[in-house]
Amino acid sequence: MSHIVVTGGAGFIGSHCCVELLQAGAQVTVLDNFCNSKPEALHHIAKITGICPALAQLDLCDESAVSSFFAANSVDAVIHFAGLKAVGESCRIPLTYYHNNLTGTLHLLRAMAENGCKTIVFSSSATVYGMHNTAPFTEDMPTSATNPYGWTKQMIEQILMDTAAADPDWAIVALRYFNPIGAHPSGLIGENPNGIPNNLVPYVARVAEGTLERLSIYGDDYDTPDGTGVRDYIHVVDLAKGHLCALEYAKTHHGFEAINLGTGNGASVLEVLHAYEQACGKSLPYVIAPRHAGDIATSFADPQKAKSLLHWQAESDLLTMCKDSWNFTLQQHP
Ligand code: NAD
Ligand code: UDP
Repeated sequence: MSHIVVTGGAGFIGSHCCVELLQAGAQVTVLDNFCNSKPEALHHIAKITGICPALAQLDLCDESAVSSFFAANSVDAVIHFAGLKAVGESCRIPLTYYHNNLTGTLHLLRAMAENGCKTIVFSSSATVYGMHNTAPFTEDMPTSATNPYGWTKQMIEQILMDTAAADPDWAIVALRYFNPIGAHPSGLIGENPNGIPNNLVPYVARVAEGTLERLSIYGDDYDTPDGTGVRDYIHVVDLAKGHLCALEYAKTHHGFEAINLGTGNGASVLEVLHAYEQACGKSLPYVIAPRHAGDIATSFADPQKAKSLLHWQAESDLLTMCKDSWNFTLQQHP
């Protein structure tokens, strides 16, 4: 049985990945400082799988804690989700973002290398495609960033590429996620951000539950079929499964590979809203607001590389994603 360390394993995507890993028979240790999650996530994982992952509660920025952990544990591979992820916040407190995401990753990689663990799957993002590429995005397109959060993803990809180039024992997969939404069908784990959500689907969920009055749609004059922004929404369970395929790939392929995880289909803001209305059985109020600075019109993946290298493709449709999000939302207020 392989021992997989999941940094950020108590978070939204990490918790879903822990479920898939445990169900596939892996031994899992969650490494998390709970700065954006709660220990209860581990109980929920245990409820779903019947197994509670081990916990190493520590901050990746604490170098001696990270190094002691890897010295004391035999680890086969790491899936590295831990990081701060709010774009707007990253513009307000860039140094916190650079420190947490970059320093944390450097400590992790050094501790791994020192202890002979050289397989890592990293949470990158479609944000690295920046403002100037045209969808569908392919992995060989030039990358860039428009905010500190995006720069941390871009810089970590560079660090990983250089690490793999310097030492051929490393097997590194950077997964570029498109827009993960939905929740586990059990309704036990999902995305429940503190305060007012920034992302579309968590915001729509709050409108559906009645805690926010209406959605503001950021622009209806884009060059898209209905004028609203188009994104590639992917079910978080599909996304989680992609990580297991990436681990499998890394067993036999050394070096660095960046791979998109998306469905290959774009959905507009209005299409998401209407799918959510269908899922929750209510009509959801909205207003058209000005475009959001930094938003692009259209983002969706070319998912071909994941299909050919990882033998993975997304399965859930938008309505299923919205139904699972709504099911999770309802269970937050029993
Ligand atoms: P999340 O905030 O729910 O999970 C991140 C987890 O990492 C949290 O449990 C947090 O407590 C932990 N963490 C953060 N900094 C840490 C540190 N220094 N030490 C230990 N633990 C730390 O976020 P998520 O949505 O699950 O995203 C996971 C990863 O995927 C992130 O790296 C994010 O940037 C990336 N990603 C997310 C999205 C998305 O839309 N959710 C899209 C693309 C990429
Ligand atoms: N969006 C919106 N209102 C909101 C939040 C988001 O109209 O309250 C739009 C946004 O402009 C984009 C889409 O919904 O076109 C997805 O936004 P999200 O922030 O979830 O993802 P990202 O833009 O980072 O891909």
